[in-house]
Amino acid sequence: MADQYKMQDPTTQYTQAGPEFEQKQEEPGLQKEMTPVPDAGETTYRGTGRLSGRKAIVTGADSGIGRAVAIAYAREGADVVLSYLPAEEADAQQVVKLIEEAGRTAIAVPGDLKDEKFCEQLIATAVETLGGIDILANVAGKQQFVKDIADLTTGQFDETFKTNVYALFWLSKAALKHMKPGSTIINTASIQAYEPSPILLDYATTKSAINTFSKSLAQQVASKGIRVNVVAPGPVWTPLQVAGGQPQEKLKEFGSKTPLGRPGQPAEMAPAYVFLASPESSYISGETLNANGGMPTP
Ligand code: NAD
Ligand code: MG
Repeated sequence: MADQYKMQDPTTQYTQAGPEFEQKQEEPGLQKEMTPVPDAGETTYRGTGRLSGRKAIVTGADSGIGRAVAIAYAREGADVVLSYLPAEEADAQQVVKLIEEAGRTAIAVPGDLKDEKFCEQLIATAVETLGGIDILANVAGKQQFVKDIADLTTGQFDETFKTNVYALFWLSKAALKHMKPGSTIINTASIQAYEPSPILLDYATTKSAINTFSKSLAQQVASKGIRVNVVAPGPVWTPLQVAGGQPQEKLKEFGSKTPLGRPGQPAEMAPAYVFLASPESSYISGETLNANGGMPTP
């Protein structure tokens, strides 16, 4: 099992993709049904009290990158509100259990972030149950590949933007009313913001919007002592990819074109979200931290 604390070769720290990576699920997909099951740090992430007593919201917290972030935040000492879709209850309950085992509070709030009222309700629930919000980690996202613009429906275009961009706006707007100096917002872009795939027209466009949104908002709230940053993952092994994010036949080579030559695992993303949430990154705002296997970015 890969461990983030011992020196090792990052090219072999996790497995390459191969034929066993070819699989298909319906959107949004379940992590527990994947082969191999992604590593979200369940048995490896060790906290060192870097987020002691913080109150955090993590969207997409049931699986993939959000799951790794929720586990890491709890082990660093934060209480966590988890946002996810009702269909993902089975994955979410595993995360609730891991957070409770870390001795922290987990509040599970299933619902649809495409709905502005739900976004406001999620923030209100965090304030009521945890007593405030110090960290908003926006990790939820929608990615469905479509090969030809002629087949990209207005419905999908709208849902991708609602999930990836509008929800960010609604959640940030509502959360900022409650955030004190020292609070942080961490958003999730992608390598797709700089190297858009032809089959991810709508998705890639939202990911560059997220970078720009974050750089603008970071300046707006800096004088309030609130920082806004972004993590931009490369190819990471998660349900998003097997539930319509990529054509099934492409999964056997997933991540193989990165300089490190393999897909990333959610566990490798979490430390970036911890760093950007903690005062260790106190002089960093409006920045995008690329965690993408070594692909050059602007
Ligand atoms: P994932 O499927 O595990 O997580 C995405 C989550 O988004 C889902 O678990 C779901 O809970 C949530 N979600 C989607 N639509 C929602 C809605 N309408 N309401 C509420 N929640 C909703 O996959 P992941 O790869 O961990 O994705 C997390 C983030 O990472 C996304 O923003 C994605 O764009 C980004 N990302 C992923 C990769 C990758 O290769 N996996 C690369 C770059 C960026
Ligand atoms: Mg999920």
